[in-house]
Amino acid sequence: MRVLHISAECYPAAKSGGLGDVAGALPKYLTNAGWKSAVVIPKYGLPWTKKHHFRLVHVGAYYLNQQYYPYTVEEPSDAGLDFSLYVLNLPAQFDRPGIYGDPERGWYTDNTERYISFQLAILDWVKNMESKPEILHCHDYHAGLIPFLVKYAPLFDSLKKIPTVFTIHNAAYAGAFAWSKRNLLPDFAFEANGLLDWSDRINPLASAVKNAWSVTTVSPGYLLELQQFSSGLEWLFKNEQKKCRGILNGIDHEVWNPHTDTYLQTHLPVKEEIQSEDIEMFKQSQKKNLISRLGLNQNIPWITFIGRLVREKGADILPDLINITLEKGAGMGFIILGSGELYIHEMLRHLSFKYPGKLHVHIGYDEALAHSLYAASDFILMPSRVEPCGLNQLYALRYGTVPIVRAIGGLKDSIVPWREEKGSGILFESFSIEAASMALDDASLLFKNKDKFKQLRKHIMGIDFSWQKSASEYITLYNDLT
Ligand code: ADP
Repeated sequence: MRVLHISAECYPAAKSGGLGDVAGALPKYLTNAGWKSAVVIPKYGLPWTKKHHFRLVHVGAYYLNQQYYPYTVEEPSDAGLDFSLYVLNLPAQFDRPGIYGDPERGWYTDNTERYISFQLAILDWVKNMESKPEILHCHDYHAGLIPFLVKYAPLFDSLKKIPTVFTIHNAAYAGAFAWSKRNLLPDFAFEANGLLDWSDRINPLASAVKNAWSVTTVSPGYLLELQQFSSGLEWLFKNEQKKCRGILNGIDHEVWNPHTDTYLQTHLPVKEEIQSEDIEMFKQSQKKNLISRLGLNQNIPWITFIGRLVREKGADILPDLINITLEKGAGMGFIILGSGELYIHEMLRHLSFKYPGKLHVHIGYDEALAHSLYAASDFILMPSRVEPCGLNQLYALRYGTVPIVRAIGGLKDSIVPWREEKGSGILFESFSIEAASMALDDASLLFKNKDKFKQLRKHIMGIDFSWQKSASEYITLYNDLT
């Protein structure tokens, strides 16, 4: 292995959002391009883990708070993945039904201890490898202490020369904790304290930005935005900008493929040149399958939101936006798939009783339904306040579903207004119900203009956002570092 990706999520083993998608795709494309990559995640007690068998790779013990704790590294033997996936087995911390929290009860209160143990055990494993990776690629705050630890903890001195890359998928989660938990970390030079600290707390995200050899964000736009608004870290991002670069995420064309998607009942035919009629037939049959499953009207445009129902995603404006739109009699319907803030669940559920047949709300996480929705919907709605990259709009394009997005972060970097040359979707600038509502009016007009809509669908399905290009940017970075 040349690169070890250290992540809290990796599709298909553990996914709660975009981090899982990236960790489950980028290593495959890097490996194909000659940078043999592996991923290591914790061994969670999730259904995927229970379904597979594991081969023992390493047995070790990591040192935490004056004590040694045993761990094992294992590898699924029957998962048929195109890259090496390792799971780190720490049963007390990770053999639970959720990734970051209990599906019923919310966030685990010991996430600081869990992810510190994860990182210490991984470094112990790497220390014991005969042939070490050339790059340690850390993803988000769960792996954010590694760049510091390899530089300043004598325990990991033998790893000092391995370049570290830190990729920020979402800077809203920094993993900060009080200095009173300093004893969870191994010894390090006292003068290095400042390289862990931000605002008098140990801050894994800030520490990674300070200590990693190179930092990437998942879109160029997001990198610039972090220098302007990042909950107090703006100065840090400005100060470290020389070692930061924005690399737009790609999508896995094997998983997200209208010709072969295993979650779909019917597919786009495989032929040399796809015609508009093929696409229309594909969309109609997807719509028919889904609509008959959910009991909805097939003739109106369906607008779908998939994602975390949280403020960051703009989910808090959905209830008012949908209410205003449906109250004024717009001939469109909405489907919501997601979970998050309880008050948003309640408001949406309540609204779905007011508008039966026009609003379908599915609270929860459902990978299969998400695929059907990307394929069957006419539009995908992303009214995000913040969007580091956003993958939904890229999946939507691949399935001929037009994105309606706020012009922010990766959404702005990936979607071009549909009236412009090479246009691919509907964008709105300001974060407001009025702006989102005008975007929906535009969607309604576009849907009625059948010829234009068909033409746009054909165009967007041909846009290439596969990992090939983005993976090559990571390879340039790795080559620079090694
Ligand atoms: P995030 O900020 O949550 O990581 P991204 O747009 O980067 O957002 O990635 C979201 C990924 O998670 C997509 O693959 C999307 O389809 C998936 N996803 C989000 N919520 C759900 C859900 N409730 N059910 C199924 N898939 C979901």
